[in-house]
Amino acid sequence: MFSGAIDHVEGEPATGDLVTVVARDGAFLARAGYSPQSQIRARVWSFDPARTVDAAFLRERLATSIARRDAVPKGSNAMRLVHGESDGLPGLVADRYGDVIVVQILSAAAERWRKFWGPALQELTGARAVYERSDVEVRALEGLPSQVGPLVGAAPGAVKIEEDGIAYEVDVAAGQKTGFYLDQRENRALAGTLASGADVLNGFCYTGGFSLAALKAGAKQVTSLDTSEEALAAARRNVEINSLDDSRADWVAADVFAYLRRLRDQNKRYGLIVLDPPKFAPTEKHVPNAARAYKDINLWAMKLLAPGGHLLTFSCSGAITPDLFQKIVAGAAADAKVDLQVRRHLGAALDHPSSIHFPEGEYLKGLWLQAS
Ligand code: SAH
Repeated sequence: MFSGAIDHVEGEPATGDLVTVVARDGAFLARAGYSPQSQIRARVWSFDPARTVDAAFLRERLATSIARRDAVPKGSNAMRLVHGESDGLPGLVADRYGDVIVVQILSAAAERWRKFWGPALQELTGARAVYERSDVEVRALEGLPSQVGPLVGAAPGAVKIEEDGIAYEVDVAAGQKTGFYLDQRENRALAGTLASGADVLNGFCYTGGFSLAALKAGAKQVTSLDTSEEALAAARRNVEINSLDDSRADWVAADVFAYLRRLRDQNKRYGLIVLDPPKFAPTEKHVPNAARAYKDINLWAMKLLAPGGHLLTFSCSGAITPDLFQKIVAGAAADAKVDLQVRRHLGAALDHPSSIHFPEGEYLKGLWLQAS
């Protein structure tokens, strides 16, 4: 509920307090957590006038979220258990990595219940540890400090997970996000189905997700780019723990924008290219620059596609709509003078649902394109 939608506040609710939201005529609208410092002034816990928001209510929401993951195929022991607003728990993210759960507390409303989440999640899942990674910029907008450390049990260190037959070591304490990009699980599997015998280029590879899927599927050669040396070192370790043939894998510390041009100068061609960049548009005001950046990398990647080659291209910027993303990519194809088929629209994996009332939750979009 944005600040501009609020006519007036009665009483003096403190940060995280439970407030009742009413219409001008006094009709009940919602119960919400109050956040005086944030432009998102209140986060809705419930639209049900008959329910108050207490530990029993939140426990029920957690249990429902976890049960919703029964629909997720059993090929992985790592998945998102709670996806914030989309699971009716605004500002709370909980990711499971084997028997460790990593939590992000992102709103004043969720912060109010900070002592509750760790023990409740442990009780509901049997996890050995619950670790907090609330070191994200959005907390500052809520007037909350960055916070990292164990909530339950000891600090877990590196955690080994398995996803569709591939093992990954996840650094939950220092890795990006909560340690791994769980949202790309299904798209990594798709990359595997396209990689056999192909020369593969994986821009923005992080700890090797798409690259390992391609190697495992029998790619001829996989070139992976990232600017983070730590990420590349972790990716190499992941090749090792899976006993995959590292002679088929090149790991390059490079800026994708510059390196794609270099590959073009070298006349390289690839049967599969993956572009999964970081969030170029964290907010609305970044959209014009982000659009230029998305267009640039897609244009150069398209020039590197072999005949019949596949491009899996993504944007995880909430402010870039799927429609706009497709327009940007179409513009890139026109300028690259490449004819492409849209084989499928792609999104986040099944453990990242989005509420129909919260389209912003649908942040990850992608296109599977194939060159003629
Ligand atoms: N596809 C990955 C996740 C990618 S996250 C997976 O499935 O796990 C985005 C990555 O891009 C991060 O690892 C970040 O270090 C890297 N990155 C950011 N800017 C970059 C740039 N200009 N060139 C290369 N890598 C970059």
